[in-house]
Amino acid sequence: MFAEVVVDILNSQVDKIFDYEISTPVPVGTRVLVPFGNRTVEGYVLNIKEQTTQPIDKIKSVKSFDTFSILIPEMLELLKFMTKSYNLKMMDAIRLFVPAGLRQNRIREKIEKIAYLAENFDESLINKRAKNQFLIVEYLKQNKSENLSVLNEKFTNSATKKLLKLGILQVKTQKVVSKSKDYGVIQKNVILTKTQQNIVDEISKNSGKYLLFGVTGSGKTEVYMNVIKNMLNAGKTAIMLVPEISLTPQVLKNFKAKFGYDIAILHSGLTARERFDEWFRIFEGNAKIVVGARSAIFAPLKNIGAIIIDEEHDSSYFSEANPRYSTIEVAKFRQEFNNCSLVLGSATPDVESFYKAQNGEYKLLEMPERVNKAPMPNFDVVDMLDELRNGNQSIFSRKLVELLCECINNKKQAMIYINRRGYQTNVMCRSCGYSVKCEHCDVPLVYHKEDNMLKCHYCDARYQVLSACPNCGSTELRYGAIGTQRVVEELKKLFPKTKVFRMDNDNTRSKDAHHQILDEFAKTEGSILVGTQMIAKGHDFPLVTLVGIVDADMSLHFADYRASERAFGLITQVAGRAGRGEFAGKVVLQTYMPKNYTYRCAVNYDYTNFFKHELNIRKVTKFPPFVKILRVLISGDDENAVIKATREYYNKILEIKKNYESDFVYINAMKCPIKRVQNKFRYQILMRISQNHFEEIRDLIYNLDRSLKQKDVLSFVEINSQNLS
Ligand code: ADP
Ligand code: ZN
Ligand code: ZN
Repeated sequence: MFAEVVVDILNSQVDKIFDYEISTPVPVGTRVLVPFGNRTVEGYVLNIKEQTTQPIDKIKSVKSFDTFSILIPEMLELLKFMTKSYNLKMMDAIRLFVPAGLRQNRIREKIEKIAYLAENFDESLINKRAKNQFLIVEYLKQNKSENLSVLNEKFTNSATKKLLKLGILQVKTQKVVSKSKDYGVIQKNVILTKTQQNIVDEISKNSGKYLLFGVTGSGKTEVYMNVIKNMLNAGKTAIMLVPEISLTPQVLKNFKAKFGYDIAILHSGLTARERFDEWFRIFEGNAKIVVGARSAIFAPLKNIGAIIIDEEHDSSYFSEANPRYSTIEVAKFRQEFNNCSLVLGSATPDVESFYKAQNGEYKLLEMPERVNKAPMPNFDVVDMLDELRNGNQSIFSRKLVELLCECINNKKQAMIYINRRGYQTNVMCRSCGYSVKCEHCDVPLVYHKEDNMLKCHYCDARYQVLSACPNCGSTELRYGAIGTQRVVEELKKLFPKTKVFRMDNDNTRSKDAHHQILDEFAKTEGSILVGTQMIAKGHDFPLVTLVGIVDADMSLHFADYRASERAFGLITQVAGRAGRGEFAGKVVLQTYMPKNYTYRCAVNYDYTNFFKHELNIRKVTKFPPFVKILRVLISGDDENAVIKATREYYNKILEIKKNYESDFVYINAMKCPIKRVQNKFRYQILMRISQNHFEEIRDLIYNLDRSLKQKDVLSFVEINSQNLS
């Protein structure tokens, strides 16, 4: 008998199936140890068969195997789907499916020994003077059983040993059941509104793909929880994805209150041990609900009833580094496999998702009002050019300062949103125009006031602050746009007695940092929270009555066809933080382009018209969802080698194009907008391809990519990449 095995080595040369002889049939998905070259490696059985086409004398034997199959059947199907759709190596996908600690048994299950008294034990066998032994017997009469190591500690090893020998004490082994972390509990008893109830019923009764389009504060979370409750009652399981770890504690509190210890959490902030324990709780059926960030979509749940993706428009659902994949596409695969319900929820759906809802690919469910009928916060759009004309050079408009005063005096809270961390960016020479860039990455450096350093946001390199221009020696250096740190500093000048919190990528690297900042903020009346998009998402602070958007234009300026969509989404999301409680909310939006259509729609919460306008532009200019963008990213240390590889690649694609002339809407090869990252030169071939023959063309380019793999030049194929920098 032979096993088809994929070995756990990440190398495109061995990303194949190898045949091994095996004495007993094992279920597919079982992990095995096999000889490979002159070492022994782990592998996974993908198939068992009677015959092999390999020369029999070359075939080696499986050395050992697990007693259970670690990859559930669904994952083996998903493996095929992912390798085909994303051109992944098989091991790249499998490593997403199993916890890292499992590999090479780096983390083992904890086993404990439990001691208890034998039935009808004979106490008279104990030596009269062996005090500790009597104490153990007394202890166990009261406590029934105890961890052997605890007894050893309390009453000495020799005492327990003797009792074991006498047959008075017996020991059984059992797995240590890990307790999941406690996030505290919010107890809320809500009665669903009619709208919520209808939607819950629809999703629970009919499987399918849904787009839940509900304004911020419309009570989507309650819908999710009730759908999940119905699934559990029906004996099924559920996955709920949220975009940011910073969100998870709040969601978890709600979920813990409702579901107790049925929940497992999976996100990148867990230690390897925590992830391992959570994974096995799911695998063994002890946790029926999985909450987590993107990677939780691979949770080994069986019999899934619902998959929920909150804030479905969020770009974190795309994995942009190897292994590249789209969480929503994986979710659709699992939805179909389990014939369950998939719910994509958002107040500002991805334009492509809304387009699919219009085409009937998703069923559209709408929640157009806030639960408490509270009005959406009102916008004040401030023209910053006007402010300048009126002599206000500060980063805050007069309106924003006035409303901040009012807000703080009323002991309410404000959030100030600025889409850039750090202090100021673009250190530029006034004399020669030189802009200070990272040596390795070709991107402008950002000044960080806290540690008085210039930092590269792409590779984390740090530089001393410059006193003179490296190009011409002039000391006239100008600082460009503003970031979070600068905003905090300006606020402290204006409001010296007010507590100002900051939340961005720089001060939230440690594990519980998000949690701590948000908890502190929640407890402090009359305070201000300054932050990047991290503060835009899902937080529910009833005291927040004012939101300030310092430089709304920043997100419109990105050279990306999705810039307007992102700006619309962000403005709506941050605005949605205001006035969620009993107090009405207000938003101040500062811009130099007050007439821009994105703003006009956003301030009226008019997604529908924004969508129409945007879809029309995409149609005319031929961008997704009307085509797909395919990018081949080619990078390496030696620029000439990269250029050569790009040219070769490009010519081969032109060959493919000959058979699909009308499907190639656009093709060009060029430097990437960011030419260098971490010392690697980056070139790209950009294509826009019509939907008609997209998969055929994609597969041809994947084949090409595999055949062109070179040692010193890396290449990746990306589809509708979220980030084309
Ligand atoms: P969304 O996710 O749509 O932005 P949430 O689910 O956070 O909205 O709900 C907003 C607020 O309304 C929360 O504080 C939530 O507890 C509350 N809420 C939701 N549904 C109800 C209901 N049926 N009755 C009372 N309060 C509700
Ligand atoms: Zn200069
Ligand atoms: Zn850098």
